[in-house]
Amino acid sequence: MTTLLVTWKEPGQIGIDAAWKARQGGADLITTIEKGLAACELDPSLLAIGLGSLPNADGELELDASIMDGRDMNCGAVCSVRGIVPVISVARKVMEETPHVMLAGDQARRFAISKGFRPQNLMTAECIAEYDKWVRGEAEKYYIHTAQESHDTVTMLGLETGPDGKPHLIAASSTSGLAWKLPGRVGDSPIVGAGIFADDEIGAAGATGLGEELWKAVASYRAVRNMEAGMSAQEACQETIDHMVRRQAHAADLPCVVMALRKDGDFGAATTKGEFPYWICRDGNIEYREQPAKG
Ligand code: ASP
Repeated sequence: MTTLLVTWKEPGQIGIDAAWKARQGGADLITTIEKGLAACELDPSLLAIGLGSLPNADGELELDASIMDGRDMNCGAVCSVRGIVPVISVARKVMEETPHVMLAGDQARRFAISKGFRPQNLMTAECIAEYDKWVRGEAEKYYIHTAQESHDTVTMLGLETGPDGKPHLIAASSTSGLAWKLPGRVGDSPIVGAGIFADDEIGAAGATGLGEELWKAVASYRAVRNMEAGMSAQEACQETIDHMVRRQAHAADLPCVVMALRKDGDFGAATTKGEFPYWICRDGNIEYREQPAKG
């Protein structure tokens, strides 16, 4: 049995379709998830992920990504990478081909080029036009998803249960971060524990939304620990979000979301604000859900 969970309506659909296609083609779980996220990064119509996404305050795209393998807690991440896609694949290479967890900025780019990634201009006419609007003061201060819009960070969780009943989990995330961010700003998405976490003994969790707040909460790690303490995936996410709202003054300024997948297949999500749309795929049965913020 394979279960995949992916954030947001539009990147989610692109991500889940690509991931399931890879799975049907025989991909292992980590490659399934990598392919799902890479498809989102390579789609120029998604304004917050990879190619053609919204840049920082200098008009430059800086991409973040991370991946974690619940089998041995191995993980890899990159942050503030310019001119390379898909950065999720670079994060996987950091995990599998270096002794490190994270590479940053120009050195991450240099590493990617040494591994055969081709540097390229990631700005499209559409994202340049959006940037020019922001420079003229005609765009939102920070661009982040609302339920009506259709693009954002893509975070994906995967669970496979073999014939022996043993669960295996992967978590991964890819983003260009908040639009118009200060150059060098890094959010939760490439930070293991904040943006993603996976442990085969418990489950996996992933976050999306206002990265500073999700990072302060170490949101994904908290949700996984909540499941370890016996909570359902839904309770684990809701407790994380409730704690954020109670303790962090800015947790509901913009949506902050945590989603979780327990090793037995139980799943859930919670948000500080609005409605969180996500996709779930169970052995090819793909379902769309919307999780409203608690009353
Ligand atoms: N969490 C991402 C960040 O703060 C943005 C997002 O999920 O939309 O960089």
